[in-house]
Amino acid sequence: MSLGTKERPLRVAVVGSGPSGFYAAEALIRDPNLTVQVDMYDRLPTPYGLVRGGVAPDHQKIKSVILVYEKVALTPGFRFFGNVKLGKDIQIEDLKRFYDQIVYAVGNESDRKLGVPGEDSAGSYSATSFVGWYNGHPDWRRMEFNLDQVERVAVVGVGNVAMDVTRILAEDPKHLEPTDIADYALAELRKSKVKEIYLLGRRGPAQAAFSPAEIQEIGGLESADLVINAQDIELDETSREDLADPKNKKNVDYLNEVVKRGRGARAKKVRLRFLASPVEVIATAGRVSALKIEKNKLVKDEKGRVACRGIGQFETLPVGLVLRSVGYRGIPIAGVPFDEKAGKILNDQGRVLDPASKTPRFGEYVVGWSKRGPSGLIGTNRADSVATVNLMKEDLKANKVLSGNKENFETVPDLLKKKNIRFVTFQDWKQLDQAETGRGKTRGKIREKFTAIDDMLAVLNGVAKAVPTT
Ligand code: NAP
Repeated sequence: MSLGTKERPLRVAVVGSGPSGFYAAEALIRDPNLTVQVDMYDRLPTPYGLVRGGVAPDHQKIKSVILVYEKVALTPGFRFFGNVKLGKDIQIEDLKRFYDQIVYAVGNESDRKLGVPGEDSAGSYSATSFVGWYNGHPDWRRMEFNLDQVERVAVVGVGNVAMDVTRILAEDPKHLEPTDIADYALAELRKSKVKEIYLLGRRGPAQAAFSPAEIQEIGGLESADLVINAQDIELDETSREDLADPKNKKNVDYLNEVVKRGRGARAKKVRLRFLASPVEVIATAGRVSALKIEKNKLVKDEKGRVACRGIGQFETLPVGLVLRSVGYRGIPIAGVPFDEKAGKILNDQGRVLDPASKTPRFGEYVVGWSKRGPSGLIGTNRADSVATVNLMKEDLKANKVLSGNKENFETVPDLLKKKNIRFVTFQDWKQLDQAETGRGKTRGKIREKFTAIDDMLAVLNGVAKAVPTT
């Protein structure tokens, strides 16, 4: 019986329910020439990955992609198994018994380090933790940022995550009130004493990673002035070449406009600095009290890219909180080949590679950030996942799939029950979704998330209604 037909549908496990996982499922399910059954697993009871736990609460429009994912999830042949962690609750070997192909869509759940002394002091954290905290992610709900005791913050890195973090700190909390921000985060932001945020780029304005729309949003805040010194955005010859990229040109043009505004009269200041690298996080009595930075100059590296090098001039910024926003990296999963240097699953264009032979492992694929690293916007993942699915179809034709007689697909829930795992179906999620929006309604918010897994399960098990534990 050939695979991918009505008689014998192709069975695919997608591990991870963020954008890349859903786009892979969509590309499989929407193919009229393929009959497929997709089981999607997530370690959390809730689907949607970074759309739920990463996208900033004041960027609700971006979250409307969920409507597309929901359509996929409601298609016959699709099942969701939330609250099931691969490598802990279920093993790769289990998946291989049931499925013809596996797609890893596990994202990048950890972050890059700066590698400077003092980085692990209290008061020096990753942007990942701050983002997870304000978004009510179960992993980060217990973080304490003590914003009521901090007047100055340094955000290291000038990518779009740094923009989100800076905006949430600089914005008037009243704009966050109607959103799905976690209640405890809103309460803390209301008490915040933060009045100055240093936003630090190690290279120059023409190399800044932020998108024009994101920096312009910061420059357009009612509650804060974006302040840039003219000498900080002077371009050298190397940088002028980078202006050929319209994004960079747009950024530099905008920053030149901002310089003309001067320091402004708003209570909060976002001080955007370039050519500045942290060299030490200074702690006093165990807590961050300052960040030492070194001035850089731009140089071309051996590959001809614009890099930076310290010039031995130092400055100390008196900050009580350091948030490093210098990119993400993946966490290895037992049994899945990992490229330690790149921080992602070892793969070639989406085919998982055997670490010894560097040849593709039959039936194992990867999409999204776990395939290519932490780059691109949500939409970038659609084309990326389609590309991997095309390889899956190519391999299916060549019968390069996970071998062996497959166990009855219908018995996956039994296996999980036997392991005593309270898995969450898509119908369960819809129940949680309704409970969250209901709680939000009573508070004038679009949603009040459950932030503890126990609370989510208690609601589903009918033990509790909608009471969050804090
Ligand atoms: P990113 O865009 O790669 O930015 C990382 C920043 O960290 C860069 O400024 C980088 O500088 C800097 N950096 C790296 N290592 C450093 C070091 N050792 N010292 C100092 N600075 C260092 O990453 P991201 O901000 O985490 O965002 C990840 C992806 O998500 C991006 O594609 C982003 O566009 C996307 N995203 C989009 C949105 C949105 O559209 N609203 C929101 C959030 C995230 P160099 O350039 O010099 O390496």
